[in-house]
Amino acid sequence: MTQEELKEKKLEDIIKEAEQIKCPAQKSLYFIDEFLSGPMCGKCFPCSFGSYEARIRLKRVVGGIAADEDIASIKRISSNMIEASMCKKGKDTAKFILDHIDSKEFTEHISGICSNNECLEFIKYIIIPEKCTICGICLDVCKDNAITGEKKKSYLSGYHPFEIAQKRCTKCGECIKVCPTGAIVIVNAKEREAVGV
Ligand code: SF4
Ligand code: SF4
Ligand code: SF4
Repeated sequence: MTQEELKEKKLEDIIKEAEQIKCPAQKSLYFIDEFLSGPMCGKCFPCSFGSYEARIRLKRVVGGIAADEDIASIKRISSNMIEASMCKKGKDTAKFILDHIDSKEFTEHISGICSNNECLEFIKYIIIPEKCTICGICLDVCKDNAITGEKKKSYLSGYHPFEIAQKRCTKCGECIKVCPTGAIVIVNAKEREAVGV
């Protein structure tokens, strides 16, 4: 297999892996992270400087601190990379980003929404009290002691649904995997704050 074929195969793998992610901003960040994890030859200015700046701005998008100018800048960098990159990898990376950046799901990050609930800064894990059977399984898996509540005891009556302390929750997702009743859900943090939950 030639060097070019090896590079090509890697690119196909990156695309396949990126497609497993739903959020277009996370996909784009994953793609550029993979691109920058390989050797950077530095032959073309838009790629060697722009790709690092694009990554910084993509991190701002997924981190919930981006503004319209970040999106405009990522677009400008990607367009320049498509035009001036000398290798296919540089062009394909920029094209991948441009193919996703205009989607509603990408731009709504500026308003504090990740509709795929994949960007951690935009989400909260909460317990729906009506669905919680007080079994305590989630309490046992939370390594961050973010869940409060007392397991049901046969000799006691009363209703004490479990709760998640948001300040402690690291959004690791372990509790949601084990809850037998589907009482733990991921919600949009901004919407919940707006209604005071
Ligand atoms: S686009 Fe390709 S050739 Fe140009 S600097 Fe980037 S990696 Fe090197
Ligand atoms: S695992 Fe689910 S049902 Fe059990 S205590 Fe936790 S939230 Fe409630
Ligand atoms: S998401 Fe992780 S840290 Fe947060 S409550 Fe669930 S298990 Fe604990």
